[in-house]
Amino acid sequence: MTPSDHYAVFGHPISHSKSPRIHQLFARQLNDDIVYTAQDVRPECFEVAVRTFRAGGGKGLNCTVPLKEAAFRRADELSDRARLSGAVNTLMWRDEHLFGDNTDGVGLLRDLTLNLGLSLEDRRILILGAGGAARGILGPILEQRPEEVVIANRTLSRARELARRFASLGTITAVGFDQLEAKPFDLILNATAAGLKGEIPPLPDGLVATGGCCYDLMYGDQPTLFVRWGRAQGAKLSTDGLGMLVEQAAEAYLIWRGRRPDTRPVIALLRQGGQPRQTERKC
Ligand code: NAP
Repeated sequence: MTPSDHYAVFGHPISHSKSPRIHQLFARQLNDDIVYTAQDVRPECFEVAVRTFRAGGGKGLNCTVPLKEAAFRRADELSDRARLSGAVNTLMWRDEHLFGDNTDGVGLLRDLTLNLGLSLEDRRILILGAGGAARGILGPILEQRPEEVVIANRTLSRARELARRFASLGTITAVGFDQLEAKPFDLILNATAAGLKGEIPPLPDGLVATGGCCYDLMYGDQPTLFVRWGRAQGAKLSTDGLGMLVEQAAEAYLIWRGRRPDTRPVIALLRQGGQPRQTERKC
């Protein structure tokens, strides 16, 4: 019997990961025989874990917090979007060459535009956070030609570094949270890890434009703090990042296996028992 193709997600912590379930649902949909596991890997163990996984016949990996920069350094070859972002969330062996890509940006964009029906063109967009996720989403967002992107981060120097890195692709400003004016934004994306500690960044009232939307890259079975903040601020749509998670996974699956799964039934299934999504109201 031919062994199943083995994929995995590495991260720390990882027990909460929905990726094994998502990839098994994709495989069932496409009648593929795969095994997808979640492995707790600390940054200092990353290199050994990658080698051991490959020695055991592993075909491809996803990397999540805090390993995306280590994966970027480990890849022998990079996609343009991974090179631009400086972070890798998808690895695949091509013979013994390790190819690195970043599917976070395209995943977010597909969720915003295809699933939620939003347009980013000529919009004012605020990104909270300047970590790995923000790096991954900035390029694809700027390709949509927004009027302006403001990056606000707790550590201002990291926001400035990101703004410099992407400056040639559009109008980007970097600010600290204390410099955020109540100038309304059409879309506010929370790409901070504050929610993992039960916090949201300190935000003034009046940031959400009339008809504006809020999107938390974090997700949970209950509305996240930021999703609740957005609703309290009168956002037309305030939702979490489950759709992005499924979309970035589908893009990884496409890279590994050459076929893109249909994401909608998978998102619907994962939402069952969780919070309903406000898809009826669009920006
Ligand atoms: P990261 O590289 O560790 O960056 C964390 C960011 O959050 C930094 O900008 C950090 O600011 C900021 N931060 C951390 N704690 C904060 C606090 N208490 N208050 C304000 N800012 C705080 O993490 P990441 O990879 O970018 O991930 C960020 C979030 O996106 C996580 O919740 C992750 O689960 C989510 N995510 C979701 C998806 C998806 O598919 N839905 C994909 C990728 C990431 P400093 O620079 O000042 O430290």
